[in-house]
Amino acid sequence: MLDEKIKQELIDIVGSENFTDAKIDMVSYAYDAMGPKGNPDCAVWVTTAEQISEIMKLANREMIPVTPRAAGTGIAGMIVPFQGGIVMDVMRMDRILEINVEDRVCIVEPGVVYADLQKALAPLGFTLPTEPGSSIASAIGGNVATNAGGLKGAKYGSTKDYVLGMTVVLPDGRLMKTGTRTMKTSSGYNLTQLFVGSEGTLGIMTEIILKIVPLAGATATGLGLFNSLEDAGNAVCRTMSSGVIPSVMEVMGRYLIQAINENTDLKLPDVDTMLLVETDAYTQGDADMQMEKVIEIFKENNAFEVTLAKTPQERADLWAARKSTYPVSARLNNSILVEDVTVPMSQLARLFREFGKIIEKYELKVAMCAHAGDGNFHPLITFDGRDEEMVEKVEKANDELFKLAIELGGTLTGEHGIGIVKAKYMSLEHDPVAMDMMRTVKRAFDPNNILNPGKMALDNDD
Ligand SMILES: Cc1cc2nc3c(=O)[nH]c(=O)nc-3n(C[C@H](O)[C@H](O)[C@H](O)COP(=O)(O)OP(=O)(O)OC[C@H]3O[C@@H](n4cnc5c(N)ncnc54)[C@H](O)[C@@H]3O)c2cc1C
Repeated sequence: MLDEKIKQELIDIVGSENFTDAKIDMVSYAYDAMGPKGNPDCAVWVTTAEQISEIMKLANREMIPVTPRAAGTGIAGMIVPFQGGIVMDVMRMDRILEINVEDRVCIVEPGVVYADLQKALAPLGFTLPTEPGSSIASAIGGNVATNAGGLKGAKYGSTKDYVLGMTVVLPDGRLMKTGTRTMKTSSGYNLTQLFVGSEGTLGIMTEIILKIVPLAGATATGLGLFNSLEDAGNAVCRTMSSGVIPSVMEVMGRYLIQAINENTDLKLPDVDTMLLVETDAYTQGDADMQMEKVIEIFKENNAFEVTLAKTPQERADLWAARKSTYPVSARLNNSILVEDVTVPMSQLARLFREFGKIIEKYELKVAMCAHAGDGNFHPLITFDGRDEEMVEKVEKANDELFKLAIELGGTLTGEHGIGIVKAKYMSLEHDPVAMDMMRTVKRAFDPNNILNPGKMALDNDD
């Protein structure tokens, strides 16, 4: 419970219309999009950097935890306020401050929804090509703080590749500018990138400078059908080393395909594995030429059928199938766990094969999908969360998946972040010296540990 005096100070800073400690709001702010529950004392909707600065000075003085939050679509527990305190909602800071095509940059506040930015950029022939699956809901502040990736990562990389600079409020309330609006800089430590993927543990971004790129004018979209995930994994690996880089390579496995067919009208082929592929270029001829090469490679790797989307509707249907993945999987049982381990491309088929053995061992139902073009695997484990034995099996399978990914030279998370959910696995990937340096950085920015405490294993000493 928040002290009445502190509550009044917060109201004085943001106004009573931007403060809440109503129970119903506290329930909403207790969760992210996936599950674990926290216990916030209050939430504030901030609208200016100055307000954020005043709140941080107050929180730092009173040692109150502050959890920054954007659209709330995170799925690693990073916006869950486990230690109570203030949830700082940035979604009312939603202005696109500048789009400058000549400089190829835009400057936005953190609450701008990704899809809204795209709508503003498209008429100018430009894009921010990161496209997370949550594009219609998630916001740029959240995307930067998680280093979000997405459907086009194979060709266009992830959010880190587009962040040039930012303005941040530090935990003690000071404002700091990092980076520049130039296409390159070698000036000093790269503080900008330190904040990318920092999950709201180092400071609160109030303005973000992003690089934008021209829209590709033409695309070709195809669907490869395979008898196994492993064949599809091999096809992806061969394609990515062939000289052609498709903009999209999305794998979907049997259980997911069945779920899509049972819950939509999309009528996907009843097969073991599908591989959705898209090439893009400035001219149709170039996109088609790349696609021809991809089809050849798919066939060499046991695709028994490859079809091309011939109309915009056929293309839209294939995309709708891929984008329905989370909603349809969420209907398969009362609980779901989504992971996003990522491995080097050469290890993708092996990851599919070995994970297949893990799910067989624990008799689990898993909707398999992957942003396969960048080695990012998304198994969606669906299970009955009331069944203790089942929960234990899911946890064991999860442990084994993380160990496997690291053994294959991979990473715990390609885009969703660590949060609380993966915090206990951090030392699998990062050696003790690296963990020590991360904790040292956290302490340098936030000696009182008030900003998003308990996340990314930064508080632990192991
Ligand atoms: C259906 C679905 C599909 C998804 N698909 C993808 C996908 O394809 N790729 C992907 O990467 N993720 C995906 N996600 C996960 C999620 O959408 C991303 O992690 C996204 O980047 C979170 O953005 P958000 O605005 O919801 O941020 P939130 O969840 O609100 O916050 C995320 C993190 O950002 C921090 N933060 C927010 N604002 C600020 C700020 N101003 N300053 C400092 N820190 C801040 C928070 O503290 C938190 O640590 C998906 C989620 C769902 C539910």
